[in-house]
Amino acid sequence: MFLFARFYVFLFLLVAFPDQRDQDDYVELRKDMVERQIRNRGVNDQAVLNAMLKVPRHLFVPDHQQPYAYDDRPLSIGNNQTISQPYIVGFMTEAISPEKGDKVLEIGTGSGYQAAVLAEIVDKVYTIEIISELADRAENTFKRLGYDNIYSMAGDGYAGWPEEAPFDAIMVTAAPEEIPPPLIEQLKEGGRMIIPVGPIYRVQSLQLLIKRNGKMKVQDLLPVRFVPFTREEN
Ligand code: SAH
Repeated sequence: MFLFARFYVFLFLLVAFPDQRDQDDYVELRKDMVERQIRNRGVNDQAVLNAMLKVPRHLFVPDHQQPYAYDDRPLSIGNNQTISQPYIVGFMTEAISPEKGDKVLEIGTGSGYQAAVLAEIVDKVYTIEIISELADRAENTFKRLGYDNIYSMAGDGYAGWPEEAPFDAIMVTAAPEEIPPPLIEQLKEGGRMIIPVGPIYRVQSLQLLIKRNGKMKVQDLLPVRFVPFTREEN
């Protein structure tokens, strides 16, 4: 008898709160993603893992892509742009050694997912997106999810964000052929920058730069393929 009652309560919950069930499914997918794709491949900064466990990646992609949001690959977000593969997000976030009090600049907001992961760890995130439609969409997502430490702007990130410089770290998620000099200038002494550099639509090198005594120490980390860093606002 009790068993039946429980069954009906279960059925009722399933029918009355389908969204909750969906959200729980996504929590499981997210745990699995962090375990298999991120931790297993060598990202072990606990703050990065916690941030990726927390940020609902599926709410950053278009509705029809939500079921694939935790897959091991980049996804299309419209306007010919992509949200990076989860592993790349974890790898790049760990590489800039984000600290609690940091002020970080991101160029290439895209879906806003990377900015949200950073915002879980650091104090303030500034992010610039050249395609205004994507910038607007990301800004709505930040509002909806309550991120009040992300400052976003539509525009060409080549010039950085001089009014808010200098930054503890800068992350660029589109590939220029050469590093924009204003970004180097806007990095603090001891600051870290991660950026894919190389030819358009070919293999680029993901570089980590550290500013020491005003000079940049450069390290090539990974061969990657990012969307191009463009110069035209649209
Ligand atoms: N970080 C994103 C993925 C970005 S894809 C995420 O988490 O979803 C790269 C983005 O960089 C694209 O949206 C592209 O429009 C943008 N972009 C390219 N050139 C740019 C520029 N000069 N300034 C700002 N954004 C740029």
